[in-house]
Amino acid sequence: MDIDLDEMEEKKKMAVSMCICKQCPSFMECGESIGYCFPTIGKSNCIKDEKGCICGSCPVTTQLGLKHDYYCTRGSEKEQSEK
Ligand code: SF4
Ligand code: SF4
Repeated sequence: MDIDLDEMEEKKKMAVSMCICKQCPSFMECGESIGYCFPTIGKSNCIKDEKGCICGSCPVTTQLGLKHDYYCTRGSEKEQSEK
């Protein structure tokens, strides 16, 4: 249990550190955590307009084998996969 949580925390840190959302045209700075694709982060509280998504060229997409985009407005990979 603890190991799983530690592993999640590690992966989350990895996603946030590699995340390129701040270079995206849809991005808005409001002091929240980036890495919206990650299950424990998910949707943004301030990004509402979809003006393009650059997740496809983010290294995290390759690393975690992500299949969606617009995580900031549509929810994490897990959330969108369950729809
Ligand atoms: S895939 Fe998108 S949301 Fe996830 S870390 Fe990369 S740029 Fe950020
Ligand atoms: S999740 Fe996609 S649309 Fe949203 S800020 Fe990141 S790159 Fe841009």
